[in-house]
Amino acid sequence: MVSSTHQASGRIKLKQDLLSKLIRLFILYLIWSAPASATVDVENSVTNVQQYLSYYIDQSAQSEIEQILSLDAAQWKTHDSDRINFGFDDRHYWFKTELTASTYKERWIEIAYPLPDYLNLYIIRNNLIESSYSTGDLLLFEQRPIEHRNFLFPLEIGDNEVVSIYIHFQTSGAVQLPVKVWEKNDFLIYENKINLLQGIYLGLMLVMCLYNLFIYTTLRDKGYLYYVGVVLSTLLFQAALHGLTYQYLWPESAWWNGQSVAVFSVLPLIFAVYFALNFLKLEENTRWLHRTFKILGPIVVTIALLNIFLPFKIGINLARTFGLIIPVLLLVAGISQWLKGDLAARYFTIAWLLFIIGTLILVLAKSGVLPSNMFTENAMPFGSACEVILLSLALAQKFTSERRKRFLAQERALESERLAREANEKTMLVQIKANETLERRVRERTLELEATMKQLSEANTMLRNLSAKDGLTGIHNRRSFDERFELEWKRAIRAKNQLALIMIDIDHFKQLNDQYGHQAGDECLKLVAQSINDSVKRPGDFVARYGGEEFVILLPETHEEGAEFFAEQVRKKVSALAIRYNELFLNVTVSLGCCITSPQCGETSYLLLEGADKAMYRAKESGRNQVQFSRLEHMASAKSPL
Ligand code: GH3
Ligand code: MG
Ligand code: MG
Repeated sequence: MVSSTHQASGRIKLKQDLLSKLIRLFILYLIWSAPASATVDVENSVTNVQQYLSYYIDQSAQSEIEQILSLDAAQWKTHDSDRINFGFDDRHYWFKTELTASTYKERWIEIAYPLPDYLNLYIIRNNLIESSYSTGDLLLFEQRPIEHRNFLFPLEIGDNEVVSIYIHFQTSGAVQLPVKVWEKNDFLIYENKINLLQGIYLGLMLVMCLYNLFIYTTLRDKGYLYYVGVVLSTLLFQAALHGLTYQYLWPESAWWNGQSVAVFSVLPLIFAVYFALNFLKLEENTRWLHRTFKILGPIVVTIALLNIFLPFKIGINLARTFGLIIPVLLLVAGISQWLKGDLAARYFTIAWLLFIIGTLILVLAKSGVLPSNMFTENAMPFGSACEVILLSLALAQKFTSERRKRFLAQERALESERLAREANEKTMLVQIKANETLERRVRERTLELEATMKQLSEANTMLRNLSAKDGLTGIHNRRSFDERFELEWKRAIRAKNQLALIMIDIDHFKQLNDQYGHQAGDECLKLVAQSINDSVKRPGDFVARYGGEEFVILLPETHEEGAEFFAEQVRKKVSALAIRYNELFLNVTVSLGCCITSPQCGETSYLLLEGADKAMYRAKESGRNQVQFSRLEHMASAKSPL
């Protein structure tokens, strides 16, 4: 029981301690965040004096410093933030504070916000206006007491004296007044670091710019050009925002300097829109985003053009509106493409995410949510540098994947070409084989046909021979003789040659037949025919069996003596024949009638035949085994009895 009471009282004591600690912390916080004390000690190397500024809004917009100096203390307001950021307000603001320092050193008052339209600073010592400066981004750069992208004013203070500073501030942009008092040397050291960072940033952006421009000249892919546009315009925007463009590019053109930030703030959006359209191939992939970007593109171009002339306040508000919408849409487009498996879209998404984060950090730092330091103040350039690097990686990734796609397509094309070639070769082989088979068949058919033709022609020859030759003796028959006789007759007429005809008849053949039989007769006929046929030597001479045991010899282009002599030779040759039949040797003789003529046109061949026949009968009548000769005189009117 006792112990539990002890425990309870211990717990109460602990709670009281905690409470008193919290109260003390709260009091400390109140003291720390209390309104500006009257005099700010700027002895340290750098002193942020924003929180100590009291301000007065000059509604008349015409007050001079003298009138401001005579204001009651009650007319001055204090603010409870450690920074001045009153948002967009174009009224005339007056700020004041008192500074003190124990030692004399060269000091600079820095207002690290390069965009106020008018910024006049007055240093009041011993109630007298010691120095007054009229600056602002609508005034010439050279009017600044110290040439710097921000506003710098020299301050001499020491020996615990108190100096008042009054700042007259008017702008069409945001009312921000980041006032610091620096020891000059420390400022220069700090400035060196900033310069280095800015140099790295500028160098990086320019290198990326040039590098991708070179790639564009080689690949001719517009994506690289849009990328260069994004980089260059972001660079310009950052440089303008930090007062660098005014300091280095157009220090004489205050008007353009006032408009340039509003114009440059839109340019990266333009290029980003067209870069996304090209890079993500939104037309093929996400139709609604494609349509949205297609509409947004001309809108932002128009805004950029309008911002050259529009009042800064309107221009920068338009830029801010689209500056919020477009990066979010870019992020959505990137993610949707990434989810579809596009690896290049991954870099694209992260790039814009980093840019958005960088901008967000800056906005949060400016609005006091995040502490203001070198990182938060430079988060936007840092974010944009990361963005630029990642976008370049995205382009490289896209190039690689497209090259791979091209390579695969090429491989596929080669493969199909190979398959087509193989198929073609197979078809050709089949065709060659088919051709060979066809040729072989044609050859076989031709050979068969040739053989058949040969057989046919042989059969034909045989048939012709059969029809032209005599079956028993093998010499030409009567029909063959008639044809030849007619032919030679006409030829002799044409050539005016002589034509001789010998008619031969075997003597007493009937007796031989009767005595030895028909077979002996036939044998005799064959040998006599052979003997007569062998007698002719000239190619034009023609021997035939005229009928029974009668033979004829046709002798073209032969004169009388020749024909008579030839007939005599035949007679002798036949009579010399010893015809063997059944152990017997038979002898035969022949009677020959020879007739010769020079055929004339209109004469008939029958006359020569008749003449030869008559001569042959004369030979029979004159005792047989002899030759009788006759010459046929012309009888043009004689007619053939056939
Ligand atoms: P000639 O001396 O007067 O001529 O007396 P020839 O016996 O020869 O008389 P002819 O001319 O009248 O007789 C012809 C005979 O020839 C008749 C026939 O028996 C015979 N002959 C006709 N053709 C053939 C044949 O093809 N074969 C045989 N074996 N005999 C034939
Ligand atoms: Mg006869
Ligand atoms: Mg006879």
